[in-house]
Amino acid sequence: MQFSSPLSKIVSIVTAFLVLISTLMAITPPSRVTAQVKNVIYMIGDGMGENHLEKTKAETGVNLVMETFPLRGKAKTYAFGGITTDSAAGGTALATGEKTINGCIGVYPTDPLALNGYPISLTEYAISIGKKTGIVTTDSTGGATPAAFSAHTSSRSSNDEIARQQVESAIDLIWGKSAGVYDEPTTQGYGRKYISTLSQMNELTANDKSYGQFTSDMWAESIIASDTPTLTQMTVKAIELLDNDEEGFFLMVEGAHIDKHSHSNNASDMMLSLIEFDNAIAAALDFAERDGETLVIVTADHETGKITFNGSTYEYESTSHSSADVPLFVFGCNSFINQDEVINNTQVAVFTARAMGAAPEDFPKKAA
Ligand SMILES: [Zn+2]
Repeated sequence: MQFSSPLSKIVSIVTAFLVLISTLMAITPPSRVTAQVKNVIYMIGDGMGENHLEKTKAETGVNLVMETFPLRGKAKTYAFGGITTDSAAGGTALATGEKTINGCIGVYPTDPLALNGYPISLTEYAISIGKKTGIVTTDSTGGATPAAFSAHTSSRSSNDEIARQQVESAIDLIWGKSAGVYDEPTTQGYGRKYISTLSQMNELTANDKSYGQFTSDMWAESIIASDTPTLTQMTVKAIELLDNDEEGFFLMVEGAHIDKHSHSNNASDMMLSLIEFDNAIAAALDFAERDGETLVIVTADHETGKITFNGSTYEYESTSHSSADVPLFVFGCNSFINQDEVINNTQVAVFTARAMGAAPEDFPKKAA
């Protein structure tokens, strides 16, 4: 690249400015989290903005369980050097406490090939302190959100590489729609049970490491009458399997179809998917209330569809992601945020790590 031309100079100055601004905006203030929890259930409604909740309540009359949580705030979602984020950079921020470039999974924006290390995820932090871990999604297991909690790669479309890192990882359970990379024999070769039906999921026992590769399109309507678990069934079973260790567990749960149906502005299916996600939240909350040592976080990686109130109804204004702040609900740690506080999505990850007992030097952290 020629740095002598005026255009190149402008580009490099603008780039340096964006890096500086992103860095300043991503600085995490000291955490005020004082409680320490045993278990974490970290729930991500992909594409779920504030007005997805408002539209669903207004048009279906449901009361959302997530809105009964004692603490509510919002999270900022912008990517490194950008105004809006994709699920790769958004998931990375929620998983590692670091902003990155759109398209990247669990790597630093200045070192996307991870030549000098990568930021550890909450999953990896939890494993390092002896917790059991799980990832549950209605997306492909190779989707950007589950990948951000289980892999490190410069491209979200590296499906084979993401699957390899997942089956080789110490993560106890990884369940979602089939990524189409590993079949039963190859999965067993990695010491993991391969499951592809609800019946097989229900037969798993606590010491099994598993890889769930369900074949139906995993959302409310299409799995009726098929032997495929709902998001709520997966959440309940995952908690049952993981809750058998003195050190506790970290479980990430993603409701993927709020985003997918928002890209096509399919409001009725989006609302069904949001209610399905809220049902899974109800299951997590039920466990957390009985357990008494569990933090439940509900948030989103970004808003999809720019849903806007026009004076009488909530309507889509876009088929893309927007930069709107997303909801954040907290159960089980009253020092996590102040009521109605707006924090950065990176802080959601950092404060969650603090709640698991991480000191500042433990998280965010570069893997050696
Ligand atoms: Zn999307």
